[in-house]
Amino acid sequence: MKIKQQLIRDTKHKYGKSNKKKYITVHQTDNWDRGANAQVHANLQSRVNPRKASWHWQVDDIQAIQSFIHDFQLWHCSDGRGNGNLNSIGVELCLNRDGNYNKAVENGAELVAYIMKKENIQLSNVVQHNYWSGKNCPSQIRRGKNGISWSDFKKLVAKKLNKGIVEPTKTIEKLIAETLAGKYGNGAERRRLLGSNYNEVQREIDKMYNSKPTTKPTKTIDKLVEETLLGFHGNGAERKKSLGSNYQKVQQIINGKFERVDINKLVQETLAGKHGNGAQRKKSLGKYYKEVQNIINKRYK
Ligand SMILES: [Zn+2]
Repeated sequence: MKIKQQLIRDTKHKYGKSNKKKYITVHQTDNWDRGANAQVHANLQSRVNPRKASWHWQVDDIQAIQSFIHDFQLWHCSDGRGNGNLNSIGVELCLNRDGNYNKAVENGAELVAYIMKKENIQLSNVVQHNYWSGKNCPSQIRRGKNGISWSDFKKLVAKKLNKGIVEPTKTIEKLIAETLAGKYGNGAERRRLLGSNYNEVQREIDKMYNSKPTTKPTKTIDKLVEETLLGFHGNGAERKKSLGSNYQKVQQIINGKFERVDINKLVQETLAGKHGNGAQRKKSLGKYYKEVQNIINKRYK
């Protein structure tokens, strides 16, 4: 059986979100319409159920779909603020006449076993809707349709429990997102927690990191600083536009350069012969030599 989530973030049809998850309440939809399967019921809940009702799971002969996380205290037991609505997880078994009834009941048992394991709920706390309010639900199991009674259903659940439940197959995408969010740690821990999915998840993550575009600037920042100092990128708004995403970095460096040294003053001093020529000028101007010389070259060429 396929188990999937079509989770709804919130609903008005609830008491709260502090379900103690002590019980699982089994229902049958009593909707025999063709196509009234788990997907249709999940969609009904996703659209905000017009009926003042809500439940966690729906299951048919093909799949189980979760609509709400188990913390929700939903409206499915007709017991007001009783233990049914407040502290049980609601499972609707679909009865669409174009589905296979026995298979839907078997899938329901598998789903119940899955929830029991997940939330550590005892088989004795798997109950009928009828248990909370006397309603005739799950109606078909209660009347033993196709020879499957309530005690048969529970035996089926026990059988599924012993078989070991297969966790719903999370998509690799979901596992990758969770891994990136840190849910599975690193190294050996990650390998252990991801189990058979480790290789695939890790391969995808490695790919993501290796394929990250290497945003190699076509020009180095130093070159842009130099060009800016030479006036190639104008001033103010024009410079901002010309340098684009590099503007801030370039400007920071330029501001830093001018923090202590007035390049124009150095240019003037150099022109006045204060820093000599050739090797002497280079030595005298030190790290400012190139800037000063560039400005002079540009001005007097
Ligand atoms: Zn019910």
